[in-house]
Amino acid sequence: MTDHLETICVQGGYRPGSGEPRQIPIIQSTTFKYDSSEEMGKLFDLEAEGYFYSRLQNPTCDHVAAKIAQLEGGTAAMLTSSGQAANFYAVFNIASCGDHVVASSSIYGGTYNLFAVTMKRMGVEFTFVSPDCTAQELDGAFRPNTKAVFGETIANPALTVLDIEKFAQAAHRHGVPLIVDNTFATPINCQPIRWGADIVVHSTTKYMDGHAAALGGCIVDGGHFDWMAHADKFPGLCTPDDSYHGVTYAEKFGMEGAFLHKAAAQLMRDFGSVMSPQSAFLLNLGLESLHVRMARHCENAQAVAEFLSGHPKISWVRYSGLPGDPYHALAEKYLPHGSCGVVSFGVKGGRGAAASFMERLRLGAIATHVADARTCCLHPASTTHRQMNDAELAAAGVSPDLVRLSVGLESREDLLADLAQALDAV
Ligand SMILES: *Cc1c(COP(=O)(O)O)cnc(C)c1O
Repeated sequence: MTDHLETICVQGGYRPGSGEPRQIPIIQSTTFKYDSSEEMGKLFDLEAEGYFYSRLQNPTCDHVAAKIAQLEGGTAAMLTSSGQAANFYAVFNIASCGDHVVASSSIYGGTYNLFAVTMKRMGVEFTFVSPDCTAQELDGAFRPNTKAVFGETIANPALTVLDIEKFAQAAHRHGVPLIVDNTFATPINCQPIRWGADIVVHSTTKYMDGHAAALGGCIVDGGHFDWMAHADKFPGLCTPDDSYHGVTYAEKFGMEGAFLHKAAAQLMRDFGSVMSPQSAFLLNLGLESLHVRMARHCENAQAVAEFLSGHPKISWVRYSGLPGDPYHALAEKYLPHGSCGVVSFGVKGGRGAAASFMERLRLGAIATHVADARTCCLHPASTTHRQMNDAELAAAGVSPDLVRLSVGLESREDLLADLAQALDAV
């Protein structure tokens, strides 16, 4: 249709025919009727494409997934009930009991917990590496049973920028795919598949929805990874699935479709973390303005980061748009149009000063959220990351004084005035 992200945001994924609804219809139906059992049987055998039960596929969700696939430059996408479900499915689809995954240590606290605690309990081992490690150090983290590499384009909340090419090249040297969580950058600011990532995941709860209205996740397949060339590592994709009438996903659906057909047929069937059609509709409303909102989030965050870095009560500021930021060079390469609206910083005086500063903000609410239209802030060490010890916090790039400010779409002047009055009172 077009390569222009603005047009895809507004019109991608759904082409109504003559006389059909202009807006994506909400197909609020768990089930779909057929004239014969024979016809429905073909769907169960994956012999025909079609809808039969909304745990497996729903037209509203499919339209929205198709839009996100286009935005990321992927071949297929699947919506999930949350970002957590997307990350779990993306990894568990290729790494199960007895397998190993290399992950950046600088990732979202919920994802860290999923990997280091819950998936470990399921028998999947993770090795966490610094996003800044050398190619040699990265190579050293691989084992014969490594099945994937995982990182975040812009880490939440550490705001490190992933050297996607470095991680993709290491993954491919070892015959495994790179999975990138692109939640903070969104495809407007970075398309990891173009830099070598194989699978992209999202918490659509954040900027994609953008209004703090609906939880959701998404998995996008870049369609470039040759599973059959590494068939010994990926028996789940490259040998017949007895739980699905003997289908071999990599043969039947090729590089463009194997990964998500398997994820839908097995993981969605068995775990059922679907997005509701209502949530998909809300997500699509957010996507329609994503390109406009991201630009404004980035402009406001840049102004906030510059203001804070010049303020005497602030000890440090992390925002890759600042020329002195350690990730500025990587951001210029991977995020040339801007990074995101999230700024991290330390208030002089540590934990206590951070808390009283946050309580004095009038526009910036204390909320366990980021990346929506309203400015909000969070103290990760006492909330999202409180299960980590000091060493783990340091590895995740979270210091005890770190305040994460998600800069919204309010007036820049009002935001700067709010920060100034809150800091004056500290
Ligand atoms: C929020 C977030 C998640 C988890 O998403 P939910 O939708 O809250 O389940 C995963 N990764 C990143 C980078 C996030 O910011």
